[in-house]
Amino acid sequence: AKGGPILEVTDLAVTYGGVVQALRGVSLTVEEGAVVALLGSNGAGKTTLLRTLSGTLRLHKGRIESGQIVYRGDRLKARDPAASVSAGLVQVPEGRRIFSRLTVEENLKAGGLSVGDRGARAADHQRIYDMFPVLADRRSQRAGLLSGGEQQMLAIGRGLMSKPQLLLLDEPSLGLAPRIIGQIGEVIKEINRQGTSVLLVEQNATMALGVADHAFVLDVGKVSLSGSAAELASTDAVQRLYLGHG
Ligand code: ATP
Repeated sequence: AKGGPILEVTDLAVTYGGVVQALRGVSLTVEEGAVVALLGSNGAGKTTLLRTLSGTLRLHKGRIESGQIVYRGDRLKARDPAASVSAGLVQVPEGRRIFSRLTVEENLKAGGLSVGDRGARAADHQRIYDMFPVLADRRSQRAGLLSGGEQQMLAIGRGLMSKPQLLLLDEPSLGLAPRIIGQIGEVIKEINRQGTSVLLVEQNATMALGVADHAFVLDVGKVSLSGSAAELASTDAVQRLYLGHG
C-alpha cells in the first residue's frame, strides 16, 4: 500500500569539511511502498545522499549544513549507522562490501546481529535463501569465492537481515553483466513486493527506470529532473544522457 511518504528530504545541503559542496539544496520524496530511482553521473552527489540517510556521513568527514530529513513522520536525527539501522533505514554499500573470508551464512548472520531474537533470525535466513536460491546452494562457501553477481545478492541479502523499512541500494549493477543486472532488477522488485520501500541509486538508468515507480535525476548536487519512471524514460535529456540514445 502506498500511504504517504516514508521519506521526505527538503533543501538538503551537505559539505565535506565545509569546503566541497556535495549537495546544494536537494528535495525529494519516497512514497511508502515505492521504488524510487536516483540517477546521476559521477560526482553528482548520489552517494553523499545515501551516506546522509544511513548515518555514515560523519565517517567521511561530511556535514549537513542545512535542510531537513523527515523519515516515517519524524525528523531524522540518526547521525550514526546503528541508529539508522534500528530505525529501519539500511544501506547496501556500493562495491559489495561483504566479508570475503566469512561464509555466505556467516555474512547473513552478521547482517542480522542488530535484530533481536534468534528464532526470528533463522526464519530470516530462510526468507533470504528462498529469494536467492544460489546463496542457499553456497551457504557454507567463503563469500570471496562467489561471482560478482552472487556477491551483490549476498550484500543485498545481508542488508535485508536487518529488516529495513527503507532499503538504500548504492549502484547494485556496478560491474555486472547485463543478464545479471536483469536478475538484480527482479530481486529489487521482489523485495518491494514483500513490503519494503526502496531508494535505488544507479548509473544504469535502463535497469533503474525498469524497476522504479518514480525517479529523480541529480546533477552537481541538485535535483534537475523528476517524474514517474515512465515519464523520465521518455524525456529527451534522460534518453541522451543516461539511456545512450544520442
Ligand atoms: P559516484 O557515482 O562517483 O559515487 P556520486 O553521485 O555518488 O558519484 P558523491 O560520491 O556523492 O557523488 O560525490 C559528490 C561530490 O562530493 C563529489 O564532488 C565528490 O568528489 C565529493 N566527495 C565525496 N566524498 C568526499 C569526501 N569524503 N571528501 C571530500 N569530497 C568528497
